[in-house]
Amino acid sequence: MNLPRSRYPATVREVAAALAARYADFDHYNLTEPLDELLFIICSTKTAESSYRVTFDKLKEAFPTPRDLAEASAEYIAKPIAAGGLSGKKSKSIRALLDAITARFGAPTLEPLRNMSDRDAEAFLTALPNVGKKVARCVLMYALGRQVFPVDTHCWRVARRLGWVRRTQKGGHCAPRDADRLQARIPPELRFSLHVNLISLGREICTARKPNCAACPIDLWCPRIGANTRAARRAAISPNGD
Ligand code: SF4
Repeated sequence: MNLPRSRYPATVREVAAALAARYADFDHYNLTEPLDELLFIICSTKTAESSYRVTFDKLKEAFPTPRDLAEASAEYIAKPIAAGGLSGKKSKSIRALLDAITARFGAPTLEPLRNMSDRDAEAFLTALPNVGKKVARCVLMYALGRQVFPVDTHCWRVARRLGWVRRTQKGGHCAPRDADRLQARIPPELRFSLHVNLISLGREICTARKPNCAACPIDLWCPRIGANTRAARRAAISPNGD
């Protein structure tokens, strides 16, 4: 459910603007065709960006059409993606996904999602094997242009540090209800921008082990920065206290 515009926290808009100024909504090479985007995300699981972009290209080279891929065994699918690691697991996932999609739509395609509501498309995707809210919302956002907010590891970490959301699950992982609560705090028109830019920030500056707060473009809004530091920075930006 989306709130009236005035009900979203002002700080979310300010952080979004500061991040957009720094990272310019770089899309991390995600794709606009929904099945390709789903396969791209599977290739990216626990894999460095430089490696998963290459393995996805190799997968597409080996199986140029979705039907080529749908007719291949997991063993053959594993070969072109081997360099990215976990190829046995990823190839079985791809095989299971293509079977489930073909069983529902009669062909290896996610194009019918374009005619579904956000809710129905997300329900379809999350019913697929090994597809959770994050992956489903990436497909919806990147490939279908829907105003949803996928919560990946970087978005989750930075949002918690900013105090936008609290974990409700032991171990600190993002539970599905946490993902919904965080999405509900973010104005729909800022969800794409914040998602891609929080990933950039999480990779470059707000890293898991050693955040470089001194270089952070959103430190003014972060509770981790002391009040005195914040006041000094605000004064430096606006010496008259404006
Ligand atoms: S100030 Fe530090 S902890 Fe806060 S968002 Fe920036 S890098 Fe992360």
